[in-house]
Amino acid sequence: MPKRKLRQFMLDKRRELTAEERGVSGHPIQQAFIALPAFAEARIVALYSPVRGEVDTGEVVQAALKDGKVVLFPVVCGEDLRFVRVYDPSEMGKGAFGIDEPCLTGEAYAPDEANLIVIPGVAFDRSGKRIGFGKGYYDRALHHLEGKGKLVGFCYDFQLVDEIVAEPHDVAVDVIITEKRVIHLRGYQ
Ligand code: ADP
Ligand code: MG
Repeated sequence: MPKRKLRQFMLDKRRELTAEERGVSGHPIQQAFIALPAFAEARIVALYSPVRGEVDTGEVVQAALKDGKVVLFPVVCGEDLRFVRVYDPSEMGKGAFGIDEPCLTGEAYAPDEANLIVIPGVAFDRSGKRIGFGKGYYDRALHHLEGKGKLVGFCYDFQLVDEIVAEPHDVAVDVIITEKRVIHLRGYQ
C-alpha cells in the first residue's frame, strides 16, 4: 500500500479506539519500555506528548522523573524539533499542531545527548521503518541517530505492518514496542 494510503488507513483505525482501549494497550507498552535494561541505565530520555490517539507516555514520564532522569520533550521550531527538559509535565502548553510542548526558553539538549528517544508513529514495519503524520519532523531530527540502539517506536499492534514502502529519508527505529511484543532490531536497548 502506498505510504499516504497506509497513513490514512491507520489514522482512521486508530481514531476508532476508545479511551479505555488506548489505556488497556498503552499500559503494557509503557511498562515494557520501563523494563528495558537500557531504560534503567539511561540518564537522559526523550519522550513525546500523545495526540490523536497515540500511545500514552504518562507512566514513562513519571517513572523517569522518579528515577531522577533528565526528561526531554520535542518542541516544533520551524522545520526542526528542539528537545527541551521538562521537570513537571503539567507545565507544558499547546504548541504547533496542538501538541503539548515545553517552553523554548527551557534547557535544550541535542538529540544526540539522549540515551533513549521514544517516537510515536502512524505505522511501523518489521524493519523499523516508520510513517508519521506526513511532515517529516522526526526524519529530519533523528536520521543521523539511526542504528545506534537509541530510537524506540511506540505503537499499537495493529499499526505494525510487514513492509512500508519507505523513502531514503525515512528514519528507522531500533526497537518497536506494542502491547503484544517488543521487537529488537538493532543496537543495544
Ligand atoms: P512522515 O515521516 O511524517 O510520515 P514523510 O516521510 O512523508 O513524513 O516526510 C515529509 C516530508 O519531509 C518529505 O516529503 C520531505 O520533503 C521532508 N523531509 C523528510 N526528511 C527530510 C530530510 N532529511 N531533509 C529534508 N527534508 C526531509
Ligand atoms: Mg518519514
